[in-house]
Amino acid sequence: MTVARRIDGKTKAENLAESVTRETAILQKDHGITPGLAVVIIGEDPASHIYVRNKKRIAESCGFHSVQHTLADNVPQNEILQLIKELNTDNAIHGILVQLPLPPHLDELIIMQAIEPSKDVDGFHFINIGKLAAGNTSNAFIPCTPAGCMMMIEDELGSDLSGKNAVVIGRSNIVGKPMSSLLLQANATVTITHSRTKNLPEIVSTADIIVAAVGRPNIVKANWVKPGAIVIDVGINRVGKVIDGEIKMGLTGDVDFDDVCSVADAITPVPGGVGPMTIAVLISNTLRAARLSAGLED
Ligand code: NAD
Repeated sequence: MTVARRIDGKTKAENLAESVTRETAILQKDHGITPGLAVVIIGEDPASHIYVRNKKRIAESCGFHSVQHTLADNVPQNEILQLIKELNTDNAIHGILVQLPLPPHLDELIIMQAIEPSKDVDGFHFINIGKLAAGNTSNAFIPCTPAGCMMMIEDELGSDLSGKNAVVIGRSNIVGKPMSSLLLQANATVTITHSRTKNLPEIVSTADIIVAAVGRPNIVKANWVKPGAIVIDVGINRVGKVIDGEIKMGLTGDVDFDDVCSVADAITPVPGGVGPMTIAVLISNTLRAARLSAGLED
């Protein structure tokens, strides 16, 4: 029986963060610029607070100026818009991130579109989405999760995916759609599937590359996977798991890891795959925003 290679997102993310740290030191020494990241978090969602803490910790460890704005669950929308306006014009801040999900009284569309596109290091502004969709990525910010997935796919298969079939499961604006654009730009033949897709296992089984971004624990099984496929598991699902002989809450992906390991060529684990890469790309995007603001890249 074959056993898939484990794609080590944690080590790849550490390597990317190390290179960001080195380039940050050079930017400071040669140009006196310290990349600045502002994270806005609204409400008490415990998972969001963990993500924000990790983003801040890694930004600081790379030598960034890092600020966090923690706002109450019931903060009025105009206060958030005012804060974003101030951050948009703050020269010490190069990247602005509003942690999702937002409390239900807030309009995500209005808030995300208020961020200046040149500071939109999450890549959610329509300008950045449009550039990616048009294949004009040289000065666009690409959403961190699909960008991290793409780096891992390129490490496995190279940057030209001509002749490869890719199936993306999920069509969200933050993962599925931008992932599909990136794969298409790399010349893959891309199929986007979602909750209304018929014959999902059959379609997935045609893929040389599978990206699962669904939010349903373990839905992708070995019999959905073509032998030798590369499997990228974006899903983060909190489930009861046996850890050290006890049932505890743990994380699991959208892919049944042990089952799919018997057929895939390579697979990302959850945790330790896409998650760490997402944060590393955020840091890398922020460094790029700082360099772009100083005219050091175009
Ligand atoms: P979403 O809920 O916005 O989108 C889920 C997509 O899955 C939808 O397009 C839906 O049509 C599709 N879907 C739902 N049920 C399906 C089914 N049974 N069959 C096929 N398609 C189905 O979610 P999202 O924001 O794209 O996130 C997806 C998953 O990825 C979640 O588990 C989320 O926590 C995780 N995530 C992880 C990272 C990371 O850094 N690792 C980042 C973002 C999201």
